[in-house]
Amino acid sequence: MTDAPWDKSRLKNRTRLIYAGRRPSEQHGFVNTPVYRGSTVLFPTVEDLVKRKARFTYGTQGSPTTQSLETAWTELAGAAGTVLAPSGLAAISLALLTAVKCGDHILVSDSVYKPTRIFCETILARMGVETEYYDPLIGAAIDSLVRPNTSAIFMETPGSQSFELQDVPAIAAVARAKGACAILDNTWATPLFFPPHAHGADMAIEAGTKYLSGHSDLLLGLVSANKGWFSRLHATADAFAMCAGPEDVFLALRGLRTLDLRLHEAERQALDLANWLNERPEVAQVLHPALPSCPGHALWKRDFSGSSGLFSVLLAPCSNKAMAAMLDGLRLFGMGYSWGGFESLVIPFDCSSYRSATTWSPPGPALRFSVGLEDVEDLKDDLDQGFERLRAIG
Ligand SMILES: *Cc1c(COP(=O)(O)O)cnc(C)c1O
Repeated sequence: MTDAPWDKSRLKNRTRLIYAGRRPSEQHGFVNTPVYRGSTVLFPTVEDLVKRKARFTYGTQGSPTTQSLETAWTELAGAAGTVLAPSGLAAISLALLTAVKCGDHILVSDSVYKPTRIFCETILARMGVETEYYDPLIGAAIDSLVRPNTSAIFMETPGSQSFELQDVPAIAAVARAKGACAILDNTWATPLFFPPHAHGADMAIEAGTKYLSGHSDLLLGLVSANKGWFSRLHATADAFAMCAGPEDVFLALRGLRTLDLRLHEAERQALDLANWLNERPEVAQVLHPALPSCPGHALWKRDFSGSSGLFSVLLAPCSNKAMAAMLDGLRLFGMGYSWGGFESLVIPFDCSSYRSATTWSPPGPALRFSVGLEDVEDLKDDLDQGFERLRAIG
């Protein structure tokens, strides 16, 4: 392996992940970049100190550890650069704060991660930024909602509970034509299944907490940006001293090496389980982007090269008590927030109280599954027994 620059443009993703961001010659030959813990960086002369003449200058502004991950992610996302944040939500707020100023209007998909809404409705509202929600399936017709002061259009595809697919290229084209910033929460697909900037996103968010970590043991956010937006993103991150802990970044680099393997395995298992659930009489609809029953499925087929391990189902009408009896007795599926780890999770969810541009009225309770790396037959057994408990109550 050589550290010297060479043309990596023809490498497949799986190979790219093995080499991205590693410089063994700078680490005495060791394969991985270690955890650099540090605040102070020492300068040899007054002149260097005053001019900050060094590759690294202070802990908040990066270290070889953070630079390894930023470099790797930039390459993977096809971006001009990447900044790190302490969580996915911090990455979302950083991207929004990079794009807006007082007096602006922004358009946000009605299907976004709920804490994104809360950030818009509290912090951005307090700063004098108005948020308007739009139907995630709107496509190019978003043009009619853009105002002269619209500075950002925020997308999330698919929505991480309700799974509507968005027409990112069409919406990003409108944003470009109108001078607004196209921001995409790309956590579900990761750049492996949906290269965000090639599809028109100016800034793309990844909650590294999910598949990049893959082990439910860290919190991390990444924002990548194209040429037009990276310097402003970087300056904003610097002004906030936005940074991520070195141990978490190290673990994310470890996760990065197996991201392609884990994502493909999660995809295979989730598709198997989704098709099995699709045949169950207790299930009214499966919301999995690779299944035709998912809203916007054709866009998944057109734009994505894979699906991950997260999907939802709408149950046929049943009481909440029956649903609770099903979930409370599960042995393998854990119940808890977040997703993308090695272990399977399930949660009930209900978007009806906060949707404003669309209505959410499923026939029965809705469940979201994050499928992990267990044997899928064991997972089916666990759910099969759960459906028995559900039917016993009705
Ligand atoms: C979890 C999640 C986030 C936030 O990530 P955290 O690291 O938990 O803050 C953002 N977007 C989506 C789609 C998520 O699922």
